[in-house]
Amino acid sequence: MSADDVTTPRVRIRAALAGLPAYVAGKPAAPRTDVTAYKISSNENPYPPLPSVLEVVRDAAGEMNRYPDMGVSALTHRIAEALDVDPACIATGTGSVGVLGQIVQALCDAGDEVVYAWRSFEAYPIVVALTGARSVQVAVDDRGRHRLEAMREAVTERTKVVIVCTPNNPTGPAVTQTELRGFVESMPEDVLIVVDEAYVEFVTNDDPVDSLPLLRDHPNVVVLRTFSKAYGLAGLRVGYAVASPPVAEALRKTAVPFGVSTVAQRAAVASLDAYDELDVRVKQIVAERDRVVAALRDEGWDIPDSEANFVWFPLGDDAVPFAALCDEHGLTVRPFAGDGVRATIGEPEASDRLIDVASRWRAGARPRS
Ligand SMILES: *Cc1c(COP(=O)(O)O)cnc(C)c1O
Repeated sequence: MSADDVTTPRVRIRAALAGLPAYVAGKPAAPRTDVTAYKISSNENPYPPLPSVLEVVRDAAGEMNRYPDMGVSALTHRIAEALDVDPACIATGTGSVGVLGQIVQALCDAGDEVVYAWRSFEAYPIVVALTGARSVQVAVDDRGRHRLEAMREAVTERTKVVIVCTPNNPTGPAVTQTELRGFVESMPEDVLIVVDEAYVEFVTNDDPVDSLPLLRDHPNVVVLRTFSKAYGLAGLRVGYAVASPPVAEALRKTAVPFGVSTVAQRAAVASLDAYDELDVRVKQIVAERDRVVAALRDEGWDIPDSEANFVWFPLGDDAVPFAALCDEHGLTVRPFAGDGVRATIGEPEASDRLIDVASRWRAGARPRS
């Protein structure tokens, strides 16, 4: 049966879906015979899984005929232990994007508002629109930083959720603890403040966000973390929220049943157990990031501070041609048309090539097509 053979259905798909942008995933690296191609478009960890994690995953794979533990209890307790919080404060999900979807579902009805910075993580407008809620986007400043005061002013009585993405994907800067505390204290107590800390392990500023003490005093705070970036488990889909117990309970109610597989649950536990080893890699990525930012700035690029595992080129209308030039040199980066290009810090060879292509661009090189 070809798609053309199927008559148009008369079912009523929700209008909210019509205007919805599809998530643009980082493209896979184009196959090349002349140079090694690198995919630096999805903020993935370039290191292969740790042997200890891989072994646990192999064992767990032997149980794939069984449903996973629906309560995700071993992982929940292991996270709670690592963070020194009660397990009742933890809710897991299929990546932290999955958990964010649960948050918006748990809080928003059609017409409610969700405030977040823009440009920020491209999953936000999709997750919000799916519930029929409305996105209220507050432009970041010219250094790619959240304008927290303007975000506070954007809050109305329809606002149910505010998202603070720190470090901000794709621009790079993090908010400080001082800024976040002031922001949380200024917010109405009935607005949920989501602190999306997908890149928290890469933060190196001297006033880093520490959301858990904020959560103790402000039960309207939720912290989102993921195993996809620093822990290198992007393909297994597991993340979590740390929240006040009633919020965490609401999130467990909106979870896809059995969403987090046994393989993912065990790999996440094993990764927490092996964090010292992973941290060595995180520190290498951080050092590599700082090297790349310094080299690009030396070349005259105006690169915002990055506290994550990527760098942002604020190229405006040149974003797409710059990405095309990168492509020609075997680098798949992530362009945001009209705005900029995000490049992940991966293999050092990929970084060297990125610096080289960026320098050619400044010298006038342009893509052939
Ligand atoms: C990568 C990322 C996430 C996490 O994604 P999952 O793989 O779903 O855990 C969440 N927020 C931001 C800002 C990200 O960049």
